[in-house]
Amino acid sequence: MEEKKKVVALLSGGLDSRLAVKMMQNQGFDVTAVAIKTPFCDFDCGRGCGFEIRETADTLGVDLRTVYLGDEYIEMLKHPKHGFGSGMNPCIDCRAMMFKAGKKVMEEVGAEFIISGEVLGQRPMSQHGPALRTIEKEAGLEGKIVRPLSAALLPPTEPETNGLIKRENLGMIRGRSRKEQLKLAKEFGFENPPNAGGGCLLTDPAFSVRAKDLFKHVETPTTNDIDLLKIGRHFRFDPKTKLIVGRNKDENEMLQALALDGDVLLETKDHVGPISLLRGDDFEKNLELSAAITLRYSDAPKNTAEIVLFQKKETKSELSVSQIAESEYLQYRI
Ligand code: SF4
Repeated sequence: MEEKKKVVALLSGGLDSRLAVKMMQNQGFDVTAVAIKTPFCDFDCGRGCGFEIRETADTLGVDLRTVYLGDEYIEMLKHPKHGFGSGMNPCIDCRAMMFKAGKKVMEEVGAEFIISGEVLGQRPMSQHGPALRTIEKEAGLEGKIVRPLSAALLPPTEPETNGLIKRENLGMIRGRSRKEQLKLAKEFGFENPPNAGGGCLLTDPAFSVRAKDLFKHVETPTTNDIDLLKIGRHFRFDPKTKLIVGRNKDENEMLQALALDGDVLLETKDHVGPISLLRGDDFEKNLELSAAITLRYSDAPKNTAEIVLFQKKETKSELSVSQIAESEYLQYRI
C-alpha cells in the first residue's frame, strides 16, 4: 500500500486550523500538528484559540508536537523587524517564528509542506497577501506554506505546481466573516465549533500598555515579569520600581507565588484586602506609598490609620499608614 504523503499543520485549536487539517486529511495526507505556545499565548488562557489543544488533536486523529517559544520570543519582541500591530503584537515576526518552528518538525517527519488556518484578509497585520509572502520568506519556506482555506485565491505553491494538491480542492475564503467556515464545520461534522479566538494577549490594549512599560524599563524581561503583567493593577513609581496590587483571591495567590527574593509583599493586617507585590531596587523609598495604595484597595474604613504588614523574604514587619487620595496614586497607574 502506498504510504500517505506527510504534511505539518500549525494547530492553534481554533476553528480555522481544524478545518485546514481536515481539508488535508480529506485529500489523503497524513498530518502532524504543531501547537506553539509563547509567553503571551498559552493553550489554557480560556480565550478560545488554543483551548483544549490535545483534545482537538485527538479528535482530528493527528500526532501533536508542542513547541514553547520563550526567551527567543522575548528577544524578538524587543525589536520586531516588521513592527507592531495596533497593540504590542508583532504578528509578522511572530508568525515567521512559528513557521520556523513548524519547519523543524517538517524536516523531522519528512513532510512535503506546511499548512495553517490563515484566512486571507482576516487579520489586519499578518493576513494580507504581502504579509503572507513576508512571513514565508522570513521563515525560509517560500512556496512551501499552504493556507488551505484561502489557497485558491493565492498564487500557486510548490505542492500545487508539483501536483500534490489541486486548486479545485482548495478554499476561496476571504475576510472576517465566519460564515464559510461554519458551513465547512457542519459539512465535516465538527460539533460545537469554537468561537473566534481574538489573537494573543499582545493584541489586548490594556495588556499592551503594561507590556510596553515593562520593555521600556527592563532590558530583558523574564517570564516571571511577563506573568506578572497578566494579573493585578500595575503602578510605576520610577524606572526600576513598580507595584502590582491583586484584584481577587486568585491574583493574590499568584502574586505570592510569583514573588522573588528581592520583592516585598504587603497586605492589610485587620481588614480584608489585596496582596501587593513591590519590585524594585530601593524598596524602602516606596514602601509607605505602596502600603497606602494597598490599604486603599482594602475594606478598611476611610480616614483612619491602619496597619499594613510587609514581608521581604522571611523578614516580616508592619507599618501604620493612612489611606491615599485617588489623585495622589492614579498618576502612577500603568
Ligand atoms: S496575535 Fe499574537 S500570537 Fe497571533 S500572530 Fe499576532 S503576535 Fe502572534
